[in-house]
Amino acid sequence: MLTPLKWAFVWGLALAAIPERESMANGHPSYSPQSIMARLGVPSAQARQRFADAGMRDVHAHDLTRTERAAVEQAIAALPVLHRQVLAERLHSLSFVDGIPGEGTGLTSRSGTSDSYDITLRASLIHESLSDFLTTKEQRVFDGAARGTVAVRGEGVSALTYVLLHESTHVVDATLGLTRDLGAPLVSGVWTARTDPVARLASEPALKTSFRGAPPLPGSDSIGVYRSLSRTPFVSLYSTASSSEDLAELVSWYVVERQFRGSLTIAVRTQDGRLLEAFEPLRFPGVRARFPSVEALLARRFVPDAGAG
Ligand SMILES: [Zn+2]
Repeated sequence: MLTPLKWAFVWGLALAAIPERESMANGHPSYSPQSIMARLGVPSAQARQRFADAGMRDVHAHDLTRTERAAVEQAIAALPVLHRQVLAERLHSLSFVDGIPGEGTGLTSRSGTSDSYDITLRASLIHESLSDFLTTKEQRVFDGAARGTVAVRGEGVSALTYVLLHESTHVVDATLGLTRDLGAPLVSGVWTARTDPVARLASEPALKTSFRGAPPLPGSDSIGVYRSLSRTPFVSLYSTASSSEDLAELVSWYVVERQFRGSLTIAVRTQDGRLLEAFEPLRFPGVRARFPSVEALLARRFVPDAGAG
């Protein structure tokens, strides 16, 4: 879900539709899931060429089945009003592809030099459970034999809904300039630059994983890493990658918990399956302390002409 520069290409097709202004909420327009579904498209020939240039020769557009379209519409409907408003104004295209190698999942990229965005997602996500998706991602932190000892259980939403929440939070962030402001409530006290945490956090083992460029860790480090995470304001190890990933993770999990009564548990087990320790990041004091700021953010409304509402 990091956005590699090599993927930040320009889509060739103009897929944007005029947003359909459905109703007024708090004096601002709010948008139906259907107005965002209208941006569903296929990656252009030019985009496919960019994938090929990046060595991903088999990436191609995925034709959504009726059931898959319904799942996508449901995931869009699950987004907060702020997210749907911003997407309705700024989403250029939403597309699904097959053939992404490895564990790639999704990316959000600026559409050329415009202020609109393309979201591209791996189509097989639609059929994945949230727990499987999260466990696969988390296991990258640990080396071979240790991988089976860490498992993540995520409940409340589908993997697709979670990924769309995460990626669309990047669009909200970029549109409202949230993490660009180092004094913003969800940035200040945590980050001193996009990828630089404050000194107190920089020394924590939770900030020395592969999500910040370190090599994979032995399994014996896992409990120490998650105990360290519990002392931080981060809801996941992936949050430590940058201020924008932190925001996307925090907002997504806040919505999963508040709106869908969901939960997040990381279990560390022995090789033979005995539970050693379980962690619930949504209960970490440092994470909960940030929830009022997330709530305040989600209460904002986007006024296209004036920027942030
Ligand atoms: Zn991300």
